[in-house]
Amino acid sequence: MLQFSVLASGSSGNSVYIRSDETALLLDAGISGKQIQQRLAEAASASLSSIDAVLVTHEHVDHVRGLKQVMKLSGGSLYITEGTWHHVQKQLEDVCTKDDRRFVKADESFVIGDIRVTPFTVSHDAEEPVAYRFDAGEDSLAVVTDLGYVSDHIKGIIRGCGTYVWEANHDVDMLRAGRYPWSVKRRILGDKGHLSNEDSAVALADLLENREVDVFLAHLSEENNQPDLAELTVTSILREMSATFAEQVRLHRTARHTATALRSIGSV
Ligand SMILES: [Zn+2]
Ligand SMILES: [Zn+2]
Repeated sequence: MLQFSVLASGSSGNSVYIRSDETALLLDAGISGKQIQQRLAEAASASLSSIDAVLVTHEHVDHVRGLKQVMKLSGGSLYITEGTWHHVQKQLEDVCTKDDRRFVKADESFVIGDIRVTPFTVSHDAEEPVAYRFDAGEDSLAVVTDLGYVSDHIKGIIRGCGTYVWEANHDVDMLRAGRYPWSVKRRILGDKGHLSNEDSAVALADLLENREVDVFLAHLSEENNQPDLAELTVTSILREMSATFAEQVRLHRTARHTATALRSIGSV
């Protein structure tokens, strides 16, 4: 059994709560510890003290803003790449000893309680960034955000999951026409930036086999995207590619300021 709630998603902060029968994990802490505590309570009647481990994808502030507080309140172990650790080491000095910390390596699965965790490399402008796949029994979830493109290697690792938390960061036209400086636009659009709605749909189509999947569109830009537009773009591209694709994908929303309801993988 695997359940999860996206506590926050977007360029202002990201965090996902994942639990099985025996184990509770927090993936990223990009909002304050207090907000995470509140949303955990609202969405899952859970608290930070019940978290067994905290996993981190990369050092950008929208993923680590509340990490110190979370480590303090949870008492769980920290799972992090060595590259990311270099950037957060200082802020965690007082709350994370060597014994509390495990270095993860891309493509090397490990087990926390009854959840198997597989980190994999993503192309993003951070030091040794990763994303993760989680498996417990028959249930599987991949949380894939903050990447410029979805490589074949990634597709190989995450194929077959029942649920995806899946980046649809921006609409290319909104981004191009928007007020960001060109250097920032170029970064977002580049190979180490973020997935556009279009790229998101095309990569997703490659993962579809003959079955339905749940897709939680995530990390939407506040400035350069809209939930309706993201859904519409993804759906229409899938439909253009194949009449059945759009029917196989059940799209769901995530939000900046509220947690998604706790959901079991595989439930309708
Ligand atoms: Zn991010
Ligand atoms: Zn990032």
